[in-house]
Amino acid sequence: MYSTDREPDATLLKACGNRRVSVCPSCSATYQADSFQLLAAGLRGGKGVPETVKAHPRLFVTFTAPSFGPVHTRRAQGLRVFPCHPYRQGQRCPHGRPAGCWQHHDPDDPRLGEPLCARCYQAGAQVLWNALAGRLWSRTTIYLYRALAQLAGLTEADLRRLVRISFAKVAEYQKRGAVHFHAIFRLDAATVCGCPACVLPPPAGFIAELLERAVRQAAATVAVPCPMVDDDQAVTLVARWGEQLDVRHVTETGDEGELSAEQVAGYVAKYATKATEALGVTLDQRLGEHDVDDLDVPAYVAELVRACWELGAHPSLRSLRLRKWAHMLGFGGHFSTKSRRYSTTLGTLRRARVAYAIRRRRGDTLPLDAWCRPEDDQAVLVAGSWAYVGSGYQTTGEAWLAASAAARAREARRIAKEELRTTTLAA
Ligand SMILES: [Zn+2]
Ligand SMILES: [Zn+2]
Ligand SMILES: [Zn+2]
Repeated sequence: MYSTDREPDATLLKACGNRRVSVCPSCSATYQADSFQLLAAGLRGGKGVPETVKAHPRLFVTFTAPSFGPVHTRRAQGLRVFPCHPYRQGQRCPHGRPAGCWQHHDPDDPRLGEPLCARCYQAGAQVLWNALAGRLWSRTTIYLYRALAQLAGLTEADLRRLVRISFAKVAEYQKRGAVHFHAIFRLDAATVCGCPACVLPPPAGFIAELLERAVRQAAATVAVPCPMVDDDQAVTLVARWGEQLDVRHVTETGDEGELSAEQVAGYVAKYATKATEALGVTLDQRLGEHDVDDLDVPAYVAELVRACWELGAHPSLRSLRLRKWAHMLGFGGHFSTKSRRYSTTLGTLRRARVAYAIRRRRGDTLPLDAWCRPEDDQAVLVAGSWAYVGSGYQTTGEAWLAASAAARAREARRIAKEELRTTTLAA
């Protein structure tokens, strides 16, 4: 039997489990490591996924938002940095601002992402796009089958009897505050069984190049209509992907222009622990009416939040819930998602970690309860109640001890990982 009476302060401390690095460095480190394993397993096998997935066509694709007006950008190729937005001397926008920017911006220039002219910039269109991005993504996964069927000369129904497209994706904010998606696609054979252990390679002819053509075709054609902003609006607005579509093949060697499973998993897992941090600000919480006018964020970000708040008042746009997601600049979708058969789940990885921790503490024996029965025995009746006391620590001293111990543990893990990598390379 267990009682918190025997614990210090008569409370049991539990990890918060927050995925965001700005909220909890410890829990986000675990989340990132789990995400890496989950993503890598879908590309190279392991964690219950057969290693034969290495031979499946696999792509890493970045979908971006269209332009909503020029913003300060760093343009570089290798060591050469190009001017931000070249323009003719004296050229002005309708608001009298210079029509371009000749600066060669540093990577940490705080102006990156900021519109050249705040009044020319279509902040409203951008937050509407962010709000529709989740729908645009799910419609893309449907269009992908349609495009692949067309390229293979099959009906969509026939194609779905042959192959399945497994995926994992994560959302990231660009500096300008538009969301974009990094996605992993893997082509499998269509199998009846739903578990990731049973995935099989697709039939001959379904190669990565074909999948790439289908992705490009789907991305170019898919569109989601936006609800009418005004009743007498003459045109229907639609959300589409931007022209920038980056498609990379995932291969075993990760040769020039290609990526290895580890590179892709590492890249995507990093973004799984972030939200709006890329903008140089952290909007952690839902905002209220009074927060909107008093935000400690760059002016252009505040403008996007205000656009959410204003458009959120339109009854026709209610389904987009722009006010609820104002702190996310309109995006209310999931940050990371995966299809069912892509690979293992975060829940499975967590359970495995708990089981491992118990085994390590008590030796390799079966964990027993107070009556010497297996701990997961269904005959045990569990009676008890938990009450939430609060978050954080009782004193600043305790908080400091915990934070520094956690930082040391993370550092030790990082060094161990690095040593593992260098010794593997040496061998
Ligand atoms: Zn935590
Ligand atoms: Zn500039
Ligand atoms: Zn202007």
